[in-house]
Amino acid sequence: MSRADDYRLETLAVRAGIERSQFGEHSEALYLTSSFVFRSAAQAAARFANQEPGNIYSRFTNPTVAVFEERLAALEGAECCIATSSGMAAILSCVMGLLKAGDHIVCSSGIFGATVTLFGTIMKRFGVGTTFVSGTALAGWQAAVTPATRMLYVETPSNPLTEVYDIAALGAIARKAGALLVVDNCFCTPALQRPLEFGADVVIHSATKFLDGQGRTLGGAVLGKKAVIHEGVFGFLRTAGPTLSPFNAWVILKGLETLRIRVEAQSAGALELARWLERQPGIERVYYPGLPSHPQHELAKRQQKGPGAIVSFDMKGGKDAAWRVVDATRLLSITANLGDTKTTITHPASTTHGRISAEARAAAGIGDGLLRVAVGLEHIEDIKADLARGLTK
Ligand SMILES: *Cc1c(COP(=O)(O)O)cnc(C)c1O
Repeated sequence: MSRADDYRLETLAVRAGIERSQFGEHSEALYLTSSFVFRSAAQAAARFANQEPGNIYSRFTNPTVAVFEERLAALEGAECCIATSSGMAAILSCVMGLLKAGDHIVCSSGIFGATVTLFGTIMKRFGVGTTFVSGTALAGWQAAVTPATRMLYVETPSNPLTEVYDIAALGAIARKAGALLVVDNCFCTPALQRPLEFGADVVIHSATKFLDGQGRTLGGAVLGKKAVIHEGVFGFLRTAGPTLSPFNAWVILKGLETLRIRVEAQSAGALELARWLERQPGIERVYYPGLPSHPQHELAKRQQKGPGAIVSFDMKGGKDAAWRVVDATRLLSITANLGDTKTTITHPASTTHGRISAEARAAAGIGDGLLRVAVGLEHIEDIKADLARGLTK
């Protein structure tokens, strides 16, 4: 294949990164090997001394993992991609590779629960402080920046309230502060949003979600400019070892081939579901960037190619009403995962956000009546009927 940027996303998703072996296999080969052999002592020495390119050991590099990395880099428009064993391993490698004791992070409060713990508790023990900013207002971000700030970290749209953040504006704040803007692009994927085009420096993925898209494996990735990612993030990964296994890389890179059609179909289904939910009497409020009632609807239209597959809504009757909807489902999966072809339903206040205090939950806008649905690929009428049973009870 010729230069990656000659092709469009659809083509890159099925073709980028392929390097065939001497057997001429059509599908990408799976190299399940922990190490690589050298022709001679001199070649081994040259590889270790970085004088000759090539693989040494799969904690550092592996050809199957490299296909996944090249393909995802092509989709995000990134110079460099480092694959990791999970989404959290990607976030850990990003902060361990790019920050040091005394540095400071400004982070949105509406982020993945484990990220809150990683920054607020674990990184704090190593001298990296974090200020969590609630809400999408830029003034709050600006006010939280200190002379020690080296990273702005955001998920957009956020989980579970689908708040949309202005990537270009946050990028400008980061640049002025001499900090990097890191965007967790889990909810949109490059099929709907390419943060680097809007001025983000680093993109994070939990490949566990839409990139695999079929709920099979864990994986993650960190993407950005080679100068940032290769030295810092790869330097940490090859030493510390949160590396993606070649088997999981192979599963996920095959997932990438159908990414666009899955995400577009799931996003279209979610839009239809959100419009329908807004008309249901038992529901207080629907959170979905594709609805005109969403506070950042216009921003989402500018920044994203589609509103995404995640719809959240508040039930009028609080926790009892929310649990009734969950327990009346026969089709939807009651699970905390998202981004699967199978539609999932979650009650955040008692699961994903159950370990944070009631006050912190309230501050984050996560009420007891909140439900999150991650729309899969079932027929949308079947999904509606499954939810209607509990809504009308
Ligand atoms: C799931 C998730 C993660 C963590 O990914 P794992 O693969 O579970 O480690 C990070 N960010 C977001 C937005 C997620 O949804």
